[in-house]
Amino acid sequence: MRRRFIVTGGAGYVGSHLVAALADRGEDVVVLDDLRLGHREAVPSGVKLLEIDLADAPRVDAVLADGPWQAVFHFAARSLVGESMAKPFQYLTENGAVGIRLVEACVRHRVGAFVLSSTANVYGNPQVVPIPEEAPLATTSPYGESKLMVERALHWAGQIHGLPSACLRYFNAAGADPAGRLGEDHTPETHLIPLAIDAALGRAPELVVFGEDYDTPDGTCVRDYVHVTDLAEAHLLALDRLGEGSVTYNLGNGAGYSVREVIRAVEAVGRRRVPARMGPRRPGDPAALVASSARIRRETGWTPRHADLHEMVRTAYAWREGHPHGYRRTAG
Ligand code: UDP
Repeated sequence: MRRRFIVTGGAGYVGSHLVAALADRGEDVVVLDDLRLGHREAVPSGVKLLEIDLADAPRVDAVLADGPWQAVFHFAARSLVGESMAKPFQYLTENGAVGIRLVEACVRHRVGAFVLSSTANVYGNPQVVPIPEEAPLATTSPYGESKLMVERALHWAGQIHGLPSACLRYFNAAGADPAGRLGEDHTPETHLIPLAIDAALGRAPELVVFGEDYDTPDGTCVRDYVHVTDLAEAHLLALDRLGEGSVTYNLGNGAGYSVREVIRAVEAVGRRRVPARMGPRRPGDPAALVASSARIRRETGWTPRHADLHEMVRTAYAWREGHPHGYRRTAG
């Protein structure tokens, strides 16, 4: 029998890349997405898309009852640290409480496994870089807290009900499907690489660099960028590992790049200057976030195939240049 999977948020940036990876392998996938942040066009034609808000418990229950489900991959969430500082209860409710309810429903319907998109933000300002999974959990935002709420629910779902789970703590997702089918389309866009590309293409007057007085080699923030296709691959490897028990993995390349280095990479790939202006720090930004991904590499053999920053920027650039309005064909 074909294995059946649910992907919540499968019409979003990282989720859609996992859906493509599952579909490419011939797996049976159902996407649950309310399309508030996701895009219908990001779901391949052979994949069933159910337009459901995860807060609508009876509808979610009905889908889960129609099992058996090998696993639920849970991506659907709000993911902006800054927004979470302004709207803490939206994050704690929509990501946290709704996520916990989903875990509970998965236990009730005997779903085989649960894979959570978590975040490096759970570590807050790390004391040790590269950050290992054992680092203290000291998030500084309701966004990170909302992911921790679901991680903790999964812990108890495993302890008490035997639901195996993988908590995958992403660092900075970047790039786009190398085949050009999918890309990053957020409204508004807040991420560095797409905004630097927009500035290079003249779609924005300039890029504002958020702070140049950090304690880093060039004064700008350092982040660990990891290609979305490599993230998707890590989900599949983590799932295969769950027969041996639940796991928590950091997903990053283990190499940090500063904002200035990213700008230089965008300039090199696009052969255009990125007009940039130095601005103040963005509240809540740690100076450096770099993963130790030794654990997932050791336990599953995961090796990022698109670890080179230029390669990540190249795929992002190609998609953004070809999709000036994202998945929509026209502006508006
Ligand atoms: N950044 C910046 N200008 C921008 C957007 C981001 O200087 O317009 C910086 C930001 O301060 C951070 C890095 O780029 O150090 C990556 O930010 P992004 O929002 O892409 O991801 P985050 O690290 O917040 O998940």
